[in-house]
Amino acid sequence: MRARLSAVGWDTDLAIEPAGPPPAPVRDTVVVAVEACGVCHRDCIDRSGRFAFIRVPITPGHEAVGRVVAVGPDVTAWKVGDRVASMHRDACGDCDACAIGETSLCTRAAAVFGLMVDGGYASWMLAPERALYPVPDSIPAALAAVFHCTLGTAYRGLVRGGALAAGMRALVVGANGGVGAAAVQVASRLGAVVVAVIRDPEHARLVEALGAAAVVVDGDGRFHKRLPGGPVDVAIDCVGAPTFNGSLRSLKLGGRVVAVGNVVEARVELNLGYAITRGLRIIGSSGATRHDMDEVLSLHARQPFRVPIHAELPLAEADRAQRLVARGGLAGRIVLVPPHHGP
Ligand SMILES: [Zn+2]
Ligand SMILES: [Zn+2]
Repeated sequence: MRARLSAVGWDTDLAIEPAGPPPAPVRDTVVVAVEACGVCHRDCIDRSGRFAFIRVPITPGHEAVGRVVAVGPDVTAWKVGDRVASMHRDACGDCDACAIGETSLCTRAAAVFGLMVDGGYASWMLAPERALYPVPDSIPAALAAVFHCTLGTAYRGLVRGGALAAGMRALVVGANGGVGAAAVQVASRLGAVVVAVIRDPEHARLVEALGAAAVVVDGDGRFHKRLPGGPVDVAIDCVGAPTFNGSLRSLKLGGRVVAVGNVVEARVELNLGYAITRGLRIIGSSGATRHDMDEVLSLHARQPFRVPIHAELPLAEADRAQRLVARGGLAGRIVLVPPHHGP
């Protein structure tokens, strides 16, 4: 079974159709029998047509976990039976960015799941070997599916982007979402004091349980006026235009704001003088490299992370799942489970 987006937009439901048998993988690709695939807000952005390069028809989904069931002749990293999960896209392995391990900045990656090549809303997925990272059997499928896009994104944003270190103050804006809840845990695990910004007071207990030292409930983007303990070293903004200037104005001199969320189409207005005179840094960050994932997995092995899962739904309900995510306000992620999985 697989879901198909036949045209961008929300007028036509995602189609559910037979996936057929997987092809024999060529070159450096592998076939993965999908155990589960996360439904990400980016899938909704993809569907809305905000990336001009989307190719339709396409199978959505960049958050798949499963087992390798066949490998192409040039594959060196994987063998049949390995448990793997997808990153957002592949990497060429030899451009300047790849040469220094910055694979998420690869300039030649041709396969972005759900946009340029078919993704994980399916019983099986064809994936370039460099678009995958290894996942231990001990991590349940729903958590493993969303691990990269939540914990990986949070880790890369905070550590590589924001240079967060023990003893610093971190602000997580949109702390009840998938990346936000992950960022609260990663930042507190790294020894930072975490202040969480949420919109709905009913999520306060969740983010406190994940490690937030203080919670600000905000409805108008002016949370910087009410920050317990004052300004922060690093803010990670998982929302976008409605909160970005609040995040920027929450920073100490020399602080960093890491932008990882862009949930509405509106552009951000920037007071350049404010950023210049305070020596602020604005860092965009997306996804994580395989090296980042190794580090997140080793933190997880010492003390397991939690990603709240709102629901595990059958793959046949892919359209309903995307509409739920698009509407927003869920405390946790939705994960799709295909009817048959495993080798
Ligand atoms: Zn995602
Ligand atoms: Zn490259």
